[in-house]
Amino acid sequence: MKDIPALFGCMVFNDQVMQERLPEATYQALMRTKENGRKLDPSVAAVVAAAMKDWAIEKGATHFTHWFQPMTGITAEKHDSFISPVAGDKVIMEFSGKELIKGESDASSFPSGGLRATFEARGYTAWDPTSYAFIKDNTLYIPTAFCSYGGEALDKKTPLLRSMEALNKQVLRVLHLFGNEDVTMVRTTVGPEQEYFLIDKAMYDRRKDLINTGRTLFGARPSKGQELHDHYYGAIKSRVAAYMRDLDEELWKLGVLCKTEHNEGAPAQHEMAPIFNTANIAADHDQLTMELMKKVAARHDLVCLLHEKPFAGVNGSGKHNNWSISTNTGMNLLEPGDTPHENAQFLLFLCAVIKAVDEYQDMLRVSIASAGNDHRLGAQEAPPAVVSIFLGDELTAILESLENGTAYATKEQVQMKVGVHTLPRFPKDTTDRNRTSPFAFTGNKFEFRMLGSSQPVSEPNVVLNTAVAKQLDEFATELEGAEDFNGALGALIRRVIREHKRIIFNGNGYDEAWTEEAKRRGLLNLPTTADCLPCYILPKNIALFEKYGVYSEAEMHSRYDIYLTNYAKVLHIEAHTMVSMTQKDIVPAVIRYGRELAEALSAKRAAMPSLACNTETALLEKVSALTDQLTDRLACLRQVLAVAEQPGQEPQTVANYYRDEVIPAMDALRQSADGLEVLVAKDLWPFPSYGDMLFSVR
Ligand code: ADP
Ligand code: MG
Repeated sequence: MKDIPALFGCMVFNDQVMQERLPEATYQALMRTKENGRKLDPSVAAVVAAAMKDWAIEKGATHFTHWFQPMTGITAEKHDSFISPVAGDKVIMEFSGKELIKGESDASSFPSGGLRATFEARGYTAWDPTSYAFIKDNTLYIPTAFCSYGGEALDKKTPLLRSMEALNKQVLRVLHLFGNEDVTMVRTTVGPEQEYFLIDKAMYDRRKDLINTGRTLFGARPSKGQELHDHYYGAIKSRVAAYMRDLDEELWKLGVLCKTEHNEGAPAQHEMAPIFNTANIAADHDQLTMELMKKVAARHDLVCLLHEKPFAGVNGSGKHNNWSISTNTGMNLLEPGDTPHENAQFLLFLCAVIKAVDEYQDMLRVSIASAGNDHRLGAQEAPPAVVSIFLGDELTAILESLENGTAYATKEQVQMKVGVHTLPRFPKDTTDRNRTSPFAFTGNKFEFRMLGSSQPVSEPNVVLNTAVAKQLDEFATELEGAEDFNGALGALIRRVIREHKRIIFNGNGYDEAWTEEAKRRGLLNLPTTADCLPCYILPKNIALFEKYGVYSEAEMHSRYDIYLTNYAKVLHIEAHTMVSMTQKDIVPAVIRYGRELAEALSAKRAAMPSLACNTETALLEKVSALTDQLTDRLACLRQVLAVAEQPGQEPQTVANYYRDEVIPAMDALRQSADGLEVLVAKDLWPFPSYGDMLFSVR
């Protein structure tokens, strides 16, 4: 039996290790930095660095790395050994405070969206002392923020930290209004549920589309898919179970709180949900989780697919971002309370979220946009591209009676009034599950369900934190100046409900009728990445992020540019992979099959001219016609790609062209190829089929 409590966090320089290994004064100074964002004294850093190094070496580390999260969506690292030369041609192991706090790396090849000229290629990494250092592969990993020489964020962590700070400040103002003077810090908490596919490595290796793009670009529907719902929460196959155990252990060592595992809707699809954590730690852990999901799979001769839509016709993979706000005194601010007073406070936070989501629907949509995620949103398996909030019937009824000043039907039938002692007890966690809502209240947190599976969680949380901070800022200003606090609070809550209730929708988000209804309500529907990316540079959004010091205008322009270019690049790679697979694999295979058929036909006719040969004739006709269609469509795709690749075009124009011309051409080509796959002999078809891949792991 493994001692899991001893294993958990054994590779993490966590609070317990720090308490044991740091002098009391150093530990306290570090805590002050962590809790109050105080600048760290270099002498403190030197002591921490020395203790970290000793601990790391005892655990077998020889190197250290500043670990950061550039705009590629994955992490980056550059390893330095601890060695330092001393007299007598010897080395000692050293690690200075300076090396801990700040790193410099040539960063010219990371996407910067024009923030960094190539002549100023330096990027800087700065230690994030709020996320623990850890050891992986004999290397000490130091979580860091990554920015340019001028201090502009080039990464996903910096804005997240800034947004947490912005929210902290505004939440504290509101809490103080309610008399919570003991709270000195609040943090957003995040628990990301991660979906993924596992397939056999041997199959994967034979699919260039999976290797290049993470998804299948061809593949006829298998005879069996997910229609029986026999995979969802089904018994876990032993090879998968072994993988999950192994993954748990690797992640536990790194302090990741892996908790729940189960099979998901599609065959070969699974999910892991950790226990929630402070947002920036959760974001770091989510990156580690995605990385280790892939690494551990390799040990089991499996491949973990994190793409949002690896297989057409079965569910794709998402990531659910559970989000709440906690105080350092242990209060969850989105948990309905036991007293009217607590519930008035809860309602105010609820209203802040409602108003934030309504006003910044566009930024929430854009925060989860990617070419991969476009395949899921609105495809009857994931929430639609329309952002709305699910509150559940009871909470909605409470808000309605507040707005109208009518009685709310609880056991006591109370008149709903905020601030006086007539607010009823709020139902706790009676919310029914609504899987179709993009943004659902689930009793004590919100679950943002539009994220793609391969996406880091930082960006959506940046938007949530900042948009909610803005509302709380306005609420606090209004209430701080009020003579009659309760009266002003009641009026404010009623006003927010009245003005923003259009964003609340408790029905079926997959229903066509909802799209129509959403339009009537004036909600945004931005189906693709190319459609929504321009929201990044809308004046109202730039104003929001600038005001709270989360993004500068230049940083928003740069992100817009990076995502736009990335969208086109992803589609470019996919389209070229299709061209190559068609030309080099599919066309030769169908020609061979055609020859086999033709030869069989002439052999039969030669042997016995009176034979009908209906099968061979019909098949040969079909295959031949579809092959011609295939090559026509291949030519078509080549043609539109050439247009897309013409130099000198505006990035938005290029993105729109990929959306309008290249994607349809890819779909058409795929249709011909999939039509051929079902006709051609299995031994001649060049790739493993959907059936092979989805049901291969036992
Ligand atoms: P359910 O979806 O049934 O409510 P849980 O309550 O276990 O299940 O939550 C699911 C996910 O939500 C888990 O990843 C969990 O860590 C996360 N979660 C729970 N509470 C919070 C919270 N206060 N803040 C952020 N995430 C949370
Ligand atoms: Mg799920």
